[in-house]
Amino acid sequence: MLAREWVVVTDQRTGLGWLATQLWGERVLIASAVFVGFMMWLAGLHLGWVSFAVLLLVIAGLLRMERRAVEAGRRTMAVAPAAPVVEVAPPAEDLTPISAVLGALDAPALLLSARETVKLQNRAAEAIFGQIPQGSDLAGRIRAPSILDMVRDAIGSGQPRETEHAERLPSETVYVVRVAPLAGPTTEPLWLLTFRDVSQARRIDRMRSDFIANASHELRTPLASLRGFIETLQGPARNDLKAHERFLTIMHEQATRMSRLVDDLLSLSRLELRSNLAPDQTVDLVPLLGHVRDSLQPLASDLGVEIALDLPAHPVTVAGDRDELVEVFENLLENACKYGQEGKRVDVALSGGEGAPAELSVTDYGPGIPPEHVPRITERFYRVNVEASRSKKGTGLGLAIVKHILTRHKARLVVKSEVGKGTVFTVKF
Ligand code: ADP
Repeated sequence: MLAREWVVVTDQRTGLGWLATQLWGERVLIASAVFVGFMMWLAGLHLGWVSFAVLLLVIAGLLRMERRAVEAGRRTMAVAPAAPVVEVAPPAEDLTPISAVLGALDAPALLLSARETVKLQNRAAEAIFGQIPQGSDLAGRIRAPSILDMVRDAIGSGQPRETEHAERLPSETVYVVRVAPLAGPTTEPLWLLTFRDVSQARRIDRMRSDFIANASHELRTPLASLRGFIETLQGPARNDLKAHERFLTIMHEQATRMSRLVDDLLSLSRLELRSNLAPDQTVDLVPLLGHVRDSLQPLASDLGVEIALDLPAHPVTVAGDRDELVEVFENLLENACKYGQEGKRVDVALSGGEGAPAELSVTDYGPGIPPEHVPRITERFYRVNVEASRSKKGTGLGLAIVKHILTRHKARLVVKSEVGKGTVFTVKF
């Protein structure tokens, strides 16, 4: 009960409390009326009760209007500060998770806004484009029109886009550039621009197609010659026995050249298949080099070249495949005899063993190799002089095979040559 009475007394909408509240709310009006009445009385104006009531009503109306205006102003002021907050600074989006993901990518990546400005970049992108201040225009950093058009098109359509872009400097690099919308992490639409380096894959593709073109060309030449001779033998030289003998000798040479080429191609392909397998035998190079020298002795004698061997008295063993190492040393010795023929001498020296790494050098005293060709002579079909190589029964694959085998044996080939003085091929195990 007590509680209820207390509630009634304090409810300002009824009873004495309400009256008191209303009078207090109109205190300015009452004070103004009393003040006006007092001033009129001072001025000697004695108004009737009706005139006085009308005057009071006018003052009350004016005060109400003034109060409403003040309240309206107060409401406007309460709303006004909210407007600039919405327009100028939307609540900052937290990009930390995206930044962490970009940081873990090894491919260059940029996070873009829909206004084509850069919001984030990862380290890989920094290495290429330098540091891009946040908010910079993408067009200020990437000048390639193909990339900028692609980004614009993607943002316009809302769909991912991809293009290819090649850089010439500092080295030729080909990128597949992709831009895609980043769904979800923020309310602001964001775009991820990534650069995938495909140079290595393109280089391998080009090498493969060059290789096929070269191999076909190498086979086509002796094949065309064979067909020519066959047609001649069937036609104009049908009854010419002397021509038969001459042509058949050339045809035999051409067929042998083709089979050498096919053998080398097969050898290369076998090596490629085994390139990841380390050799599992151990080979003593001392007797092996004696064997190689013996097998090349007939060729050296034909060319008037002396092969001098300098071998240690102790074994020099390496982990390796015997047949493959024979192929390496035969190639190097044969080249030294063929191309260094005019030096009339080839020195083969072996060192190492007993704990020291094995090293073999093959030195000739021929015309040497001009420096601009040296870095390329281990490429497939690369020859300093194509005609000289062909006349010496070369296929252009010998040193490519040597390089492949040595890579599998974790050995290095070092070539030192001086034009007019000769060449040294060194194999370092
Ligand atoms: P080829 O079958 O033509 O001999 P190689 O791969 O063995 O192919 O050698 C590539 C080229 O390197 C040769 O055509 C030749 O021009 C050059 N070359 C290799 N060895 C020597 C050498 N000892 N002296 C001079 N030139 C050499």
